[in-house]
Amino acid sequence: MSTNYEAVIGLEVHAQLLTRTKMFCGCSIAYGAPPNTQVCPVCLGLPGALPVPNRQAIELAMRAALSLGCTVRTFSRFARKNYFYPDLAKGYQISQFELPLNEHGHLEITTSTGTKTAGITRIHVEEDAAKNLHGIGAGTDTLVDFNRAGTALIEIVGEPDLRSSEEAEQYLKALRDVLMFAGVNDGNLEEGSFRCDANVSIRPVGSETFGTRVEIKNINSFRFVRKAIDFELARQEALVSAGGKVVMETRTWSDPQGQTLSMRSKEQAHDYRYFADPDLPPLVIDAPWLARIAGTLPEALPARRARWQAALGLTAYDASVLTSHPAIAAWFEETVAATAKLTGKSDAELGKKVANFVQAEVLRETTTSGLEAQFPVPSDRVAGLLALVEDGTINGKIAKDVFADMVKTGKSAKQIVDGKGLAQVTDTAAIEAVVRGVVQANLKEVEKYRAGKTSVKGFFVGQIMKATRGTANAAIVNELLDKVLGEA
Ligand SMILES: [Zn+2]
Repeated sequence: MSTNYEAVIGLEVHAQLLTRTKMFCGCSIAYGAPPNTQVCPVCLGLPGALPVPNRQAIELAMRAALSLGCTVRTFSRFARKNYFYPDLAKGYQISQFELPLNEHGHLEITTSTGTKTAGITRIHVEEDAAKNLHGIGAGTDTLVDFNRAGTALIEIVGEPDLRSSEEAEQYLKALRDVLMFAGVNDGNLEEGSFRCDANVSIRPVGSETFGTRVEIKNINSFRFVRKAIDFELARQEALVSAGGKVVMETRTWSDPQGQTLSMRSKEQAHDYRYFADPDLPPLVIDAPWLARIAGTLPEALPARRARWQAALGLTAYDASVLTSHPAIAAWFEETVAATAKLTGKSDAELGKKVANFVQAEVLRETTTSGLEAQFPVPSDRVAGLLALVEDGTINGKIAKDVFADMVKTGKSAKQIVDGKGLAQVTDTAAIEAVVRGVVQANLKEVEKYRAGKTSVKGFFVGQIMKATRGTANAAIVNELLDKVLGEA
């Protein structure tokens, strides 16, 4: 965008709550189950069926709110959002409108230009719609799968505080991290359990009023959020610069076409005619309930990163990589604790070393899916390997080879080190014999060294390490090499 205009962006995120059952009935949540097998009269919207709120969903929504600095209202209401669509059998969605469960939160984001705090207007609880499946079966038919109908969601409505597509992307990532670490959502964009709509407008720099906004629906990847917003900002600027006007409308991102496309304009916009749902009493959260939920919250992400930097000597980069997923963060802490137990050394002494090893070796072999992660080797086994480095049995270079072997064979570090004779040699007499052998075999190089070409020493160290398969203690090698080369 040119410097004449400023972007104004606010995101609305729908996050599926990690409940076992749906928001207002006992049907189970099973992604990928055969169509229309997880249904009952309530989520099919049959006449006379009555909804009962899911306590676990309410508590997860409270966790989300507390993790994002929101105020949890002691009194909130469910409301009916009325519209017609084939995926909404009741003719209305149960949501919250005037009195949402949570309000006034914030989220800290970091971009290439620094950190900023973005406001969160509200977080309300609602149910998901069913899923329309187009063009399957007899060619052009649309079929409806009600398995998703009634799934518990929260909608997190952000303030229009974001000023670039980069900020929007970072906001989305930070929000996903917070919800995953709070155990509220699995952060799975591909399966649609975390989805984003973006409200985008532009205004002349210095203007205090907002321009006409366009809503971009259903952006299902971090990459697309950036591309869709950048396209939309450029489209609006071109329009306004040419003397035109932005029309209030809903658009969708088409990645194959690389552009946003109009879905419906303001004239076709819904009037949802919200009203309080007469089937559901007001939701009342008392202080002891709220305190109990607050007491179960895990350490907040920024606090955990700061603690690791201060107590374990990690860099900000290390801390962010190791908190990229809740399972990775937990696994790293387990490894530090297990290594400390085996070596008797403190977390502060070991933290940075463990962090380096995990980042360089372990994460390459680690995969994540939702809240689960698959590690190549259990944390206590990696601790066993790092303990061998700490007590001088092997050096760091050999540790990498041993780790690769552990991944391949499933053996413990000790089994591999013993089996292959990889333990570090600190026997001075044995090393001295190798040093003398190498020096004798390379007399020409010795002459060069004595003539002042000291860089030849590296050549000797390499030869000695080769002869000992890397097991010779490096400090002893250097000391003995100096002694032998120094002899007349
Ligand atoms: Zn049901």
